[in-house]
Amino acid sequence: MLSEVSKTKKEDNILNSTLSMMKQAIEFAELSPDVYEHLKTPMRFVEVAIPVEMDDGSTKVFTGYRSQHNNVYGPFKGGLRYHWDVTADSLKALSMWMTLKCSLVGVPFGGGKGAIVCDPLKMSDRERERLTRSYVRSLGTILGPEIDIPAPDLFTDAQVMAWMADEYSANVREPSFGVVTGKPLAVGGCVGRNEATGRGAFFVTREAARAYRIPLEKSRIVIQGFGNVGSNAAKMFHDEGCPIIGVGDISGAIFDKDGIDVGKLTAHVKETGNVKDFPGAEPISNEDLLALDCDILIPAALENQITGSNADAVKAKVIVEAANGPTTPEADKILKDKKILVVPDILSNSGGVTVSYFEWVQNNYGFSWDLNTVNTHLEDKMVSAFNSVYSYFCEKCVDSDMRTGAYMYSIKRLAEAMQYRGWLHNGMYT
Ligand code: NAD
Repeated sequence: MLSEVSKTKKEDNILNSTLSMMKQAIEFAELSPDVYEHLKTPMRFVEVAIPVEMDDGSTKVFTGYRSQHNNVYGPFKGGLRYHWDVTADSLKALSMWMTLKCSLVGVPFGGGKGAIVCDPLKMSDRERERLTRSYVRSLGTILGPEIDIPAPDLFTDAQVMAWMADEYSANVREPSFGVVTGKPLAVGGCVGRNEATGRGAFFVTREAARAYRIPLEKSRIVIQGFGNVGSNAAKMFHDEGCPIIGVGDISGAIFDKDGIDVGKLTAHVKETGNVKDFPGAEPISNEDLLALDCDILIPAALENQITGSNADAVKAKVIVEAANGPTTPEADKILKDKKILVVPDILSNSGGVTVSYFEWVQNNYGFSWDLNTVNTHLEDKMVSAFNSVYSYFCEKCVDSDMRTGAYMYSIKRLAEAMQYRGWLHNGMYT
């Protein structure tokens, strides 16, 4: 049964905690309360009816959404997910995180997020294609390479993006592939996009280790999640010589104090679908994984993993949030008391949107970069973002945490743009 948008307590919390983080950051940075007025709600939140002809000839009308949070910094940008459990509030929060992420890393986009309430696993490829094309037609003129640029998210992929680019191009009567990113290479995709988030998380971790004078090559790493982000980050750490002593996924977790061979684990996951039963490693629970004695813990699976009830058991010196929202506000307080550095998600996983930006730039000027150019630009952006946020955090947030510092830094940049654009009538500061 397909669910309608409903408010659940969990998702309300994502929106509420994002709003209170933004409010606190605005106060700490002594920015005008008018900045919060602009950021507290999406500039546009649309619900659309999406009629689709099903394979049996019947018509089904799906419900779709697009949250366009804020475009002071550039066109709205953010994923499109196909999922049965979608709420208005979670989409709003996710679009806010995109606004903060783009501003933080200096990518000239605003924040957006979209979804269609459906069960994509029960649909044929042709039905998903008709659903995708109908969604693009329903959104009409609020999409566009200079307006709003979707990307893959849960249960959407490069093929879905190619259908979107094709439908949009047909509607505007010219090839216009920059309307989406995360496309196949054959239709304007970017080399290195697939690995970009994991690669970006590696660069951020390396900089965090430098800042904390932790020798990276000797650091014992634990990674929760071995999908796109976790496995690509794991490969980078493995190549650097770091012992990866624990890896977990939905099937459970594994531990090897001497370090797991990432190449062999990748082959095992390809063959069996998950990390469970990897030969030579000790099986452990996901709870034990998060509590392993290690130097760096990288949550790269899903939200709400480090909570008020397990944060006290964490022994890592640094947590790098490759996933979106893996640490709850209660856990943040405990980790701060334990003096564990949490490198926040809006910084750690911004490598994906950064390379999406490179894809859009290449589409706009009709030229393709090679992998080395993409990776070099990505490294520059991530290193510069980490160091800017870290210096700002050290300067302003002595008594605070890096998440607050990152929010302050990002929102200050948004406030500057708002001020120049004439959106703040009493200036950007209180
Ligand atoms: P993915 O679907 O490729 O991989 C998810 C991994 O998490 C899998 O290994 C899965 O088994 C594991 N997992 C799922 N449920 C789990 C559970 N209950 N306990 C432990 N492990 C579990 O997803 P991904 O693209 O790697 O994304 C991971 C996270 O990174 C998400 O929070 C996503 O929002 C975030 N993120 C991804 C990108 C990107 O470019 N892919 C960009 C920014 C943020």
